[in-house]
Amino acid sequence: SDLTEEYERRTPESRRLFEEAGAVMPGGDTREVTYFDPYPTFVEEASGCTLTTADGEELLDFLNNYTQAVLGHAPPAVVEAVTERFARGNGFAAPTREATDLAERIVERTPSVESVRFANSGTEATMNAVRAAIAHTGNDHVLKLDGAFHGTHDTVLVGVTGDGRENPGIPRNVEERVSTVPFNDADALVEAFERLGDDLACFIVDPIMGNAGVIPPRHDYLETARDLTEDADTLLVFDEVMTYRLAEGGAQERYGVTPDLTAFGKFIGGGLPCGAFGGREDVMAVFDPVRGSVTHSGTFNGNPTTMAGGLATLDALDADAIDRINDLGATARDRLDEVCADADLPVQVTGDGSFFNVHFTDEEVVDAATSTTGHESSGGPTEQFFLALRNRGVFVARRGLMNVSTPMGDAEIDALVDAFEAALSDVAPAV
Ligand code: PLP
Repeated sequence: SDLTEEYERRTPESRRLFEEAGAVMPGGDTREVTYFDPYPTFVEEASGCTLTTADGEELLDFLNNYTQAVLGHAPPAVVEAVTERFARGNGFAAPTREATDLAERIVERTPSVESVRFANSGTEATMNAVRAAIAHTGNDHVLKLDGAFHGTHDTVLVGVTGDGRENPGIPRNVEERVSTVPFNDADALVEAFERLGDDLACFIVDPIMGNAGVIPPRHDYLETARDLTEDADTLLVFDEVMTYRLAEGGAQERYGVTPDLTAFGKFIGGGLPCGAFGGREDVMAVFDPVRGSVTHSGTFNGNPTTMAGGLATLDALDADAIDRINDLGATARDRLDEVCADADLPVQVTGDGSFFNVHFTDEEVVDAATSTTGHESSGGPTEQFFLALRNRGVFVARRGLMNVSTPMGDAEIDALVDAFEAALSDVAPAV
């Protein structure tokens, strides 16, 4: 298409680097989500909200590593904290004070978290939260949302595409002990609890479905989940890997619902690989080697450089900073709503706070099935739109996810709205 030709014209060095990478890495990359057709853009460096590509382009970054770079790129305070800590040695097979400091900070901010542990990714965070739930309840079965992404361990990969696609590589006996329900459907949840309640270790939910298309919860849905888990004597696990940016205490503060366990990731380690999981003290006690017996270890868990990065990031991401990016997000959504209303094709924007997603449909987007993210065949309107925005210098997710970082202001929102409007005219009507 014209969009692809234009992209290829701009990115000869990225093409060369991708071919070189393909000789030594399957698919030319080591992260499925960064690929797009015909090849991804290679980035050399970044500062604030600007990426500099291997082809010498500058892109306005509205993806921010899938919400990880909430302070933008190379924020000076974090660079300083990380550099200072790493220079004094890193990784001792012994605890350091920085992990306690970051744990205290998370406990202070997050209403439901009394006790917390660190790992190296959001994947490990949800894996350990689910494992704690199984150990605590003595039950094996896990309930999750249709189409929800919680990382790449076996349990949570079940039902991740929301369309029943097979998952080669996941043992069948894992699939047998995971059930899914559509998001925002309280009746389906009640029915699932009637069927499975006694066997459930937990219900794991991202309070806003992030990767499925930034879909906010309907009024009362999370409260219903809270009531049902309590009545069934099972655990409610919030995956706040993406949503922790919504308030100092994450989505649980914003929506006023208290989970038993929470998984954290993305910016929690200041841009270094990090995850955390925490919650009720009596549940987290399963990891205490004296009182419990669940193994949790890891060469890089709580390493001081990552912890220093996380501390500097949470210091900067105070209530004022969060209000600012939430306001910018609300402004962006209002203005994009107007652009969508005037467009020649069905298109809308969903989201809350500082993150949002475009959907090429008129239907109300309430769950993975109504979201257009991930359902279109390659080359569908979402991918065309992504490429059109990309060619206009604005970088978002191939699946249409966008988010605001703290270095942004009105000028960046103006740039997004202008590029969005122009890019819509490049998109062929949906089939
Ligand atoms: N949970 C959610 C909601 C996520 O968005 C992600 C990553 O995108 C994960 C879990 C997994 O985190 P990680 O990629 O750090 O393993």
